[in-house]
Amino acid sequence: MEYRIHLSDEAQMCALGEAFALELEPGAVVLLKGDLGSGKTTFAGSVIRGLGCASPVVSPTYTLVEEYITITHLVCHFDLYRLNDPNELEGLGIRDRCDGKRVLLIEWPENGAGALPQAHWEVQIDYADLGRTVCIQGGRPAKAIEAFIAS
Ligand code: ADP
Ligand code: MG
Repeated sequence: MEYRIHLSDEAQMCALGEAFALELEPGAVVLLKGDLGSGKTTFAGSVIRGLGCASPVVSPTYTLVEEYITITHLVCHFDLYRLNDPNELEGLGIRDRCDGKRVLLIEWPENGAGALPQAHWEVQIDYADLGRTVCIQGGRPAKAIEAFIAS
């Protein structure tokens, strides 16, 4: 299934991220694609909050990976913008973190090509005339996204 959604502001983007979180099972791998400033980190933050994280969500711009523990989920948020080589993912513990339990949210997956696990979801964010367009692709229908679109 593929969903294409126009979001006129950041608040809408966050509401979509929280709805999308309801679709994520343990071990889900989510690729976040889009130009610099398109809203990948904003979206990831709202997904992490939607998964029940109460502590502040910080951008992994410099650390490259941040991990969160919520009541229901373990979440890893990667930002591979500064990754020089996919082999560096080893040093970020990709093998241990890809354990079928942690939800993985991965910004700039292009920089980790060949060294990342198979994705379950792909989220593409593009600049639109007003706001952003988000395209969410996954292997199955997503009721929470359909409810968001209908609201
Ligand atoms: P990225 O991680 O893709 O580089 P960020 O999430 O760090 O992008 O930044 C996105 C910027 O775009 C933020 O300043 C945010 O307020 C803004 N933004 C997010 N969603 C929208 C939207 N739907 N419409 C307009 N601005 C948005
Ligand atoms: Mg970012």
